[in-house]
Amino acid sequence: MPHTITLIPGDGIGPEVADATVRAVEAAGAAVEWERVEAGARALAEYGQLIPDEVFASLEVSRVGLKGPTATPIGGGHQSINVALRKKLGLYTNFRPVRMLPGLRTRFHDLPLDLAIFRENTEDLYSGLEHEVVPGVVESLKIITQNASMKIARSCFEYARREGRKKVTAIHKANIMKLSDGLFLKCCRQVASQFPEVQHAEQIVDNACMQLVMRPETFDLLVLPNLYGDIISDLAAGLVGGLGIVPGANLGDHHAIFEAVHGTAPDIAGKGLANPTALMQSAVLMLAHLGERQAAARLGQAIREVYAAGEHLTGDVGGKASTAEFTAAIIGAITHSSGHAGS
Ligand code: NAD
Repeated sequence: MPHTITLIPGDGIGPEVADATVRAVEAAGAAVEWERVEAGARALAEYGQLIPDEVFASLEVSRVGLKGPTATPIGGGHQSINVALRKKLGLYTNFRPVRMLPGLRTRFHDLPLDLAIFRENTEDLYSGLEHEVVPGVVESLKIITQNASMKIARSCFEYARREGRKKVTAIHKANIMKLSDGLFLKCCRQVASQFPEVQHAEQIVDNACMQLVMRPETFDLLVLPNLYGDIISDLAAGLVGGLGIVPGANLGDHHAIFEAVHGTAPDIAGKGLANPTALMQSAVLMLAHLGERQAAARLGQAIREVYAAGEHLTGDVGGKASTAEFTAAIIGAITHSSGHAGS
């Protein structure tokens, strides 16, 4: 039986990287069937709804989504679709593994970087609770709950135990936000005490930024509230070649949506220049989640081979290839190594 996957191409470069990823997943021989639905600015223009009902209806049945980025207007306009999806489906863990790809020359290419970010995905300053107190004074509410903090901490430590990872660093600003970040930290400590085999460390977020740039190889797993997790994700992406590389998974108890860290990249949208690696690597996580181990391994291996060869890379990572040329190289690598002709 093929797995049904809800495909949300999204806005900007979303459809370009989604099409490339669909082709790569199919070439890898995964037994999948796509249910394509629109959400985001395109959905608003076409159906008058940012998240049409059919998106939730499809995810309710498939329980697994592959999503391109969606645009959120700055300083006004509609709320983030990502935040709405994550809240509605209870996707409390945002998991973002940050690894160096072979052959890729970055400022840190001589370091063995392999860290993973566990970002709380449902609350904090993303709660969208803002109001004007009096003209000239506004308030944005930072919500931190014991429930959500325990869930993300457990998710991180359970992963550490399962995957044999050594250390979890909780990132916070509890010296200033004593109650909210203090509660987050307390929850991390409480969970850490149940995992004695995993080293537990703590860092204030500003120091963590400097340590990540100066000594990134000393980090293993990072657990963070929502906003710090967002910011540190892009910083960490910069260590391994940029936003074109780093994948992500939004995980809950019943649903999972796989999407890259990057946004809609309006500066290069529609030009055939986008790097689909980040969404392809998200698809590798998705295939593993679905139990499609062979297809996941094939696609992961093809990505590593194409980077090691370095001949068909996109502009953001120093190459000259278009999205289509990079995708053809990936499909070629899959076909070569497995003798699988694609399906
Ligand atoms: P962005 O990630 O879209 O782009 C930042 C820079 O990275 C740009 O120069 C862009 O060209 C480059 N870049 C990003 N992805 C790339 C790729 N795959 N290949 C090559 N280059 C890539 O960030 P932004 O400009 O701050 O945000 C643009 C829009 O995206 C905003 O509306 C924002 O709300 C939205 N956004 C959505 C998501 C999501 O849906 N998950 C995540 C982040 C931002």
